[in-house]
Amino acid sequence: MQPVHHIYPKLSQPAKVVITTHQKPDPDALGSSLALSQVLTALGHSVTVISPTNWAAFLDWMPGADKVLNYEITREKSERIVNEAEWIFCLDFNTLPRTKNLAPVLEKANATKVLVDHHQQPAVESFHYGISDTTKSSTCEMIYDLILDAGWEAHLTVDVAACLYAGLIGDTGSFRFPAASANVHLMAARLKETGLQHTRVHELIYDNFLENRLRFIGHVLTNRMEVFYEYNTALIFVSKQDLLRFDIKTGDTEGLVNYPLSIGGIKMAAICIDRDEERKWSFRSKGNVDVNTFARRFFEGGGHFNAAGGRSSASLEDTVRTFKKVIKEHASEFQLI
Ligand code: 5GP
Ligand code: MN
Repeated sequence: MQPVHHIYPKLSQPAKVVITTHQKPDPDALGSSLALSQVLTALGHSVTVISPTNWAAFLDWMPGADKVLNYEITREKSERIVNEAEWIFCLDFNTLPRTKNLAPVLEKANATKVLVDHHQQPAVESFHYGISDTTKSSTCEMIYDLILDAGWEAHLTVDVAACLYAGLIGDTGSFRFPAASANVHLMAARLKETGLQHTRVHELIYDNFLENRLRFIGHVLTNRMEVFYEYNTALIFVSKQDLLRFDIKTGDTEGLVNYPLSIGGIKMAAICIDRDEERKWSFRSKGNVDVNTFARRFFEGGGHFNAAGGRSSASLEDTVRTFKKVIKEHASEFQLI
């Protein structure tokens, strides 16, 4: 994988560009994709953003979200566009399987592939150019750096700023995680200069749910949370019946995993959600508890040091049992005790 700045001169000719990201894109994934899409479009390129799957309704306000193709429901069209693309930008993921069913299509595509990502252990052999930096707060921060580095700052509009800001607050927990560096705060200031209404962006993402979601959270925290004080760990598990009872949609469970970390002393929080095709795990931690390694070793996943995801094909009951066993056996290795 060659350094990303090698692409700047090559992008001086208008080209067919695809931008894609990980399945079930979050604010950072969709925000970085739509920000780059607007900038490359302004530079004269013909750009299509393709998401491997659907996304949470709280992202629909993002400028350009209405034109994003959901691969699961536009397979033929998306495949044709990927096959005709000259460039494919891969944002906020670093191994092709993170794009689920789109992965084999990307793999076969003849386009020049560019990676911009901040997760651990990138599969660099899958990309021609790119930048992988695990010290960065978010892919949105990296796209912002790239826009400045490439000399495209004139295209940093208020709409681009709104998309970038969404990813920035998403991945830094609204500026509270350690990755919220001086550069992150300077970036926020620069985005404000475009006329960005940051309170509006925050409200659109965090204060725009239906009542049922709040009642669901109440139910889950009361009835589906277990705290293991001896291992400074808490677990939430959500069954299919819970999801049906409260009419829970994509995105409604986002952020739920963070609640147990507000209990004093808890160093790791995990949530397991019984989705149709798999049991989806999310892990969050504080300090020196490495959930990237934890997710990679025990739950077919990965991510960041303090935030990672994984999956299991076992039943909810069985995978929860495995989690408890693993915590007990590896508590000291993962600095939980
Ligand atoms: P979440 O728990 O929100 O799904 O994921 C937390 C973080 O880990 C996100 O940055 C997400 O992109 C990443 N992540 C989630 N699942 C996986 C996975 O299976 N593999 C890798 N490498 N990263 C993941
Ligand atoms: Mn991210």
